[in-house]
Amino acid sequence: MRVLIVEDDERLARNLVEALQGAGFVAAHEREGKAAWFRGEVEEYDAIILDLGLPGLDGLTILRRWREAGVKVPVLVLTARGDWADRVVGIEAGADDYLPKPFQMAEVLARLRAILRRTAGQAAPVWTVGDIEIDASAKQVRVAGAPIDLTPHEYRLVSYLAHKAGRSVSQSELLDHLYGDDTAYTTNSIEVLVGRVRRKLGAGRIETRRGYGYVLTGGGAG
Ligand code: CA
Repeated sequence: MRVLIVEDDERLARNLVEALQGAGFVAAHEREGKAAWFRGEVEEYDAIILDLGLPGLDGLTILRRWREAGVKVPVLVLTARGDWADRVVGIEAGADDYLPKPFQMAEVLARLRAILRRTAGQAAPVWTVGDIEIDASAKQVRVAGAPIDLTPHEYRLVSYLAHKAGRSVSQSELLDHLYGDDTAYTTNSIEVLVGRVRRKLGAGRIETRRGYGYVLTGGGAG
């Protein structure tokens, strides 16, 4: 996931970049308003963290221009001005969430993940990883265009790995996400499930990273 951090306070920006990178995001930083407006409009990000008080062009104007231009990227607004009126203006300008300074990095990450989750729910219904397509509305997986017959759990495994976009997913994370609180399932169940799905998708599409977990790679193309 690529995130653009628009913040003119160098120290805060550095802390944000480090926190996001530590959490597995690819973080880019921009400190000047006009440059930020341009990058947000022409480059593709999964989310943008936007300070309101910026040199060159203020954050609210940038946000309004992005929305007018049809830029739908989720935006988390940061500001020192934490009163309710600014919050209302920010939301009306198209912010997805709002966080007054000072804040804890853990809260930025939690809010960022929340807006990403909400946007993922409305995103394009077909996810692509290499030659694998996951059609979320039909709950169907295709490999190189050919439909693959999967059970509901197998489908959820592929779909979950696809949403993690190249990141390793551990067995315990899969256990939580695929089976929830059902204690009848163990990490062995995950190994069996992954083995079955691997055979169905074809060689090299789910890699095992020793000590980390599984990655959906989409064959040689991914
Ligand atoms: Ca500022």
